[in-house]
Amino acid sequence: MSQENNIGVAVVFSGPSGVGKSTVCRHLTSLLPGFHFSVSCTTRAPRPGEVDGREYYFLSREEFLTRQAAGEFLEYAEVHGNYYGTLRQELEPRVLAGEDVVLDIDVQGARLTRQALAGKPDLAAALLLVFLAPPSMAELERRLRGRKTETEDAIQRRLANAAREMTAWREYDYVIVNDEALVAAEKLAAIVRAAHCRCALMRKEPWNNA
Ligand code: ADP
Ligand code: 5GP
Repeated sequence: MSQENNIGVAVVFSGPSGVGKSTVCRHLTSLLPGFHFSVSCTTRAPRPGEVDGREYYFLSREEFLTRQAAGEFLEYAEVHGNYYGTLRQELEPRVLAGEDVVLDIDVQGARLTRQALAGKPDLAAALLLVFLAPPSMAELERRLRGRKTETEDAIQRRLANAAREMTAWREYDYVIVNDEALVAAEKLAAIVRAAHCRCALMRKEPWNNA
């Protein structure tokens, strides 16, 4: 790890399933190249087109629990009946080396990440909790159905979870309404650019004294 680099930022990006987190993240890549998207582990089955190691590391329940017992996860949670977890390796070394990382994780995961990093001042200063909200619950349902990736049963479960998750928005540092995905991504990029100016993330004076 370089002691010369500034510390990167770790964006915890939450919001109900179907709100547009993946879509906004895709736009973010073009606005702020160089972001690392934390690849979580999950026990859910891959959706068509998802690739192991790209969208998720797809694990069996047994494998997931073994890695959890080995302390490999920064946080993990059971969401919609499956386990999801963030590997420490995806976040800690990268952010300390100056890389920016985005974590697409749920509300429980955001809480647990904040707790897990509370004892690590460098990483706690790097953490930005951003909540992505839909313009309305009716629009959220339209997007979830429009994606055509879930069964009716899964859609109902996700909508019920969404109503609960939405009540947690004030636990976040920022909230963005995803009316237009590119505009939402620009707001997220602005939040990150401002964080790059945080004194707490500078390892040394940011100017040249020579
Ligand atoms: P998430 O990652 O939060 O589960 P997705 O990015 O998969 O959500 O988006 C869910 C669906 O909503 C997709 O079909 C996507 O194209 C659509 N979508 C995302 N953002 C918007 C937006 N701002 N306006 C209209 N549709 C959107
Ligand atoms: P999906 O199955 O639609 O990919 O994700 C379902 C939910 O799991 C989303 O709300 C997503 O944010 C959450 N999720 C994805 N990865 C993680 C993770 O590593 N930890 C936690 N706590 N939640 C996650």
